[in-house]
Amino acid sequence: PAASEKILSVKGLEVSFDGFKALRNLDFSLQYGELRFLIGPNGAGKTTLLDVICGKVKPSHGHVYFKDAIDLTKHQEHQIAQLGIGRKFQTPSVFSTLTVFENLALSMKQKRGLLSALWAKTTSEQLDRLHLRLGMIGLHNKSKERAGSLSHGEKQWLEIGMLLMQEPDLLLLDEPAAGMTDSETEKTGELLHEIAATQTIIVVEHDMEFVRQFARTVTVLHEGTVLREGTMQEIQHDDKVAEVYLGR
Ligand code: ADP
Repeated sequence: PAASEKILSVKGLEVSFDGFKALRNLDFSLQYGELRFLIGPNGAGKTTLLDVICGKVKPSHGHVYFKDAIDLTKHQEHQIAQLGIGRKFQTPSVFSTLTVFENLALSMKQKRGLLSALWAKTTSEQLDRLHLRLGMIGLHNKSKERAGSLSHGEKQWLEIGMLLMQEPDLLLLDEPAAGMTDSETEKTGELLHEIAATQTIIVVEHDMEFVRQFARTVTVLHEGTVLREGTMQEIQHDDKVAEVYLGR
């Protein structure tokens, strides 16, 4: 796809929880290969927006178009994963008794269901992909270690690696650097940029230092809708954003 083409286009989204509008008339779009940071005060609707995109929450109004043609609001969560959207939650969910390598291998084959995954042979092409991802997430020298023995940061990277093994076109990440040390945070930021060379990413982030350091384009949500959108430079100097977000 051309660089200017949209991978995601959200139109007039509304989500109500018992009459409370968590999202209201929200429009949002994303080009292929973007690394977009989603920020905003608590309760702004960031998580709800990711939940709608991945099919966990159904909106009362509006549409979410993926690659122009597919309306995600008409699909179930597992179908949306198959269509090429991967979601990572804050708490890592790796198989702690399996090795790093086995976790990645399982995730790669899981596309065809867990049972067939356990029996399928790994092809040499798949092995190449696996090693590529191992290097990317910085766990090459730990491939034979049990995932349970990894540090918190390493577990997060492994989970990102597992997500990548399913080759999603769009990754939805919830605070990927939460709880990490400074050096792990730094590596995570670099990893996101590396992934964005070939895939599109939306990151929900609360850590403003991380945002300042690694974000290029930012969308600020407030009270269920988009307040501002722009480069980090623009957002940082926006009075409205400072008012609602920083409480100034
Ligand atoms: P953010 O991620 O920006 O902090 P959320 O998307 O989690 O915001 O929440 C937006 C609003 O919707 C909040 O006021 C929250 O309390 C409310 N909300 C979210 N999920 C539910 C739910 N399942 N039931 C009721 N209210 C919810």
